[in-house]
Amino acid sequence: MDSESTHTGISRRRFLKDGILVPLALAVAGGGISTLFLRRADARGFYLRPPGALEERRFLAACIKCGKCAQACPYTAITMAGGEAGVGIGTPHIIAREFPCRLCPDIPCAKACPSGALDRKLEDVEKIRMGTAVIVDRENCLSLRGLRCEVCYRQCPLIDKAITIEPRHNPRTGVHSIMEPVIHADKCVGCGICENACVRDKPVIVVIKSPPVQKDYYEF
Ligand code: SF4
Ligand code: SF4
Repeated sequence: MDSESTHTGISRRRFLKDGILVPLALAVAGGGISTLFLRRADARGFYLRPPGALEERRFLAACIKCGKCAQACPYTAITMAGGEAGVGIGTPHIIAREFPCRLCPDIPCAKACPSGALDRKLEDVEKIRMGTAVIVDRENCLSLRGLRCEVCYRQCPLIDKAITIEPRHNPRTGVHSIMEPVIHADKCVGCGICENACVRDKPVIVVIKSPPVQKDYYEF
C-alpha cells in the first residue's frame, strides 16, 4: 500500500487535492461569480418593488415569496428575483425597461398580497411611491439637445403632474428653445413608464430609489 495512504485507501496527497484544494478553488470561483451577479443586480442600487411595498428591510422580512402579486398583474410587470438577489431571492420586483408598472386603478397586485408586504389599503395610484424618475444622462437626452422628443413626458400617466415640459433658451442656436422634461419628485410614483419609453438605446431617464415611506405596522 502507498506510504501516504489513509485508512480509506485514499492517498494523503489526493485527499488534500480533491478533498480540500478543489472545493476551496470552487468556493473562491463561486464567490467571484456570485459577487459578479450581485454587482449586476445591484447596478442601480435597489430593486423596484411593486406598488405599496414596505420599506425595503421590512419588505424583505414580511414578503413570503408566494408570487400572488405577480399572478395578479395583468401586464406581467412583476417578476420574482433569482439567486442574484441574495436574501431577496424569490421576492417580486419590476424591471421597468422591459415591463413597467401600468398603474392599474384598482392596484390588484397590492390587493392580492396576503402578508402585508404590500399595502392592501392603497387606493390612490397617485399615492404610490416605488421610486423617482431622474434624467441620469443629460448629454444624450434628445430634448435637452434641442430636439422635439418629449416621449417620456407624453407617455407619463401623470403627465403635467409628475413630468412637465419647461421651455428654455437654446444657447447652441440662439434662436430656438430647449423643451426640457422636468420631473417633480413629489408627484412621481416611480412606475418606470418613462424609462420603458425612452427612445435611446440606453435609457437616459431611469427610476431611482426615493426616500422610503416608513410605516410602523403590518397589515395581516
Ligand atoms: S399596479 Fe397593475 S401594472 Fe402595476 S404592478 Fe400592480 S398589477 Fe402590475
Ligand atoms: S403577494 Fe406579497 S407576500 Fe406574496 S410575493 Fe408578492 S409581496 Fe411577497
